[in-house]
Amino acid sequence: MSFHASVVTLYPEMFPGPLGMSLAGRALSRDDWRLETVHIREFGLGRHRMVDDTPSGGGAGMVLRADVLAQAIDAAAPAGDPRPRLLMSPRGRPLHQSRVRELAAGPGVVIVCGRFEGVDERVIEARGLEEVSIGDYVLSGGEIAALTLLDAVVRLLPGVMGNEISGETESFEGNLLEHPHYTRPVSWEGREIPPILASGDHGRIAKWRHAEAERLTRERRPDLLERPAAEREG
Ligand code: SAH
Repeated sequence: MSFHASVVTLYPEMFPGPLGMSLAGRALSRDDWRLETVHIREFGLGRHRMVDDTPSGGGAGMVLRADVLAQAIDAAAPAGDPRPRLLMSPRGRPLHQSRVRELAAGPGVVIVCGRFEGVDERVIEARGLEEVSIGDYVLSGGEIAALTLLDAVVRLLPGVMGNEISGETESFEGNLLEHPHYTRPVSWEGREIPPILASGDHGRIAKWRHAEAERLTRERRPDLLERPAAEREG
């Protein structure tokens, strides 16, 4: 069985979107992974198919109703479905490569995309949704966050990228950012490729790359060097 993603959303037209192109798109048409959407609106109430209501206690915006959303989630993932259920949410645990890798190793994922002010808290509890954030900023909806997460997962699925992922050196695969890359021409606008890369000495090249990765990480993301092992590549 290939990796099975189900997305619960008010905007199913946004999928597969960019994931229908390039490597992810080709993998999708080969059935290396599957993507299905469940339209929350189909479970909306009344003639207007209402899905949201005003926040209890007052305040701006609208909140996705627990009853409507739960029906959509249950249609995507009936009880007993082994896939983790995620809710894209700025309040969630920040997404790291280690979680991406775990998800890619599993049967698939059910992703709920919030809109408006968010979703009724009770549906998060009742359906055991794991809140996941893609960063400390606020998007207008969970769809782009879901596409981001799926892109990160799909590229790790067997056969999707062939040999293109170099597991040892890629950013975040250890606790380091990746070293710089160069390609031809050797000289460009007066800038040269570091001569060591043309030396043919693979041992020294590996050492140089590792040193560069450490230097960049210390300069740009010293927090990665202190990150607990659980958040690193597992
Ligand atoms: N009022 C909420 C923000 C709602 S934004 C708050 O302050 O926390 C609307 C929806 O966009 C959210 O329900 C969520 O699904 C999605 N979203 C916004 N920012 C996100 C982020 N950083 N990561 C993941 N999802 C996000």
